[in-house]
Amino acid sequence: MSRLDSFIRRMTAQRDILDHVCTEVAKMEGPVVELGLGNGRTFHHLRERLPGRRIVAFDRALAAHASSIPEAENLVLGEIRETASRFIGIDAALVHADIGTGYEDLDAVTSTWLPDLIARLLRVGGIAVSGTPLDHPQLQRLPPPPSVPADRYFVCRRV
Ligand code: SAM
Repeated sequence: MSRLDSFIRRMTAQRDILDHVCTEVAKMEGPVVELGLGNGRTFHHLRERLPGRRIVAFDRALAAHASSIPEAENLVLGEIRETASRFIGIDAALVHADIGTGYEDLDAVTSTWLPDLIARLLRVGGIAVSGTPLDHPQLQRLPPPPSVPADRYFVCRRV
């Protein structure tokens, strides 16, 4: 598969999963945490799907499109492992993490700390969506929507 095909599949999976979980998240109290603001496309999508919801976005540096920049109080810059730890207990209804690199060795390092961080950011019953695996005793794997190939994206509930 070409990288373009793979990119299109990833974007489609991301959109389908976010739409899928937003139906449930809309009924749940708690902010949304966006780990990896990047260009801000998924932030923009979540803002549309969950109007009025607080979305706190994290990245190393601001590189988002002007239309997709959170309010200053909801933008946190720096290394996510450190910055997001300061938000443990925020009781998020949704944590979306899009910080995979496509390099197995780098993503393996992320997998050593990201699942536990996400488990601590979420409220009980909250949903995690991630491009990298979330192996953690408090994160119960949920099936993705049928349009998403297995092991492409990971959806979990905080138990
Ligand atoms: N979902 C975004 C969108 O729709 O535009 C794209 C996110 S992009 C793939 C990943 C972003 O995560 C990059 O901007 C990168 O700087 C950030 N990132 C990755 N690992 C990070 C880390 N450990 N700490 C802070 N930012 C990180």
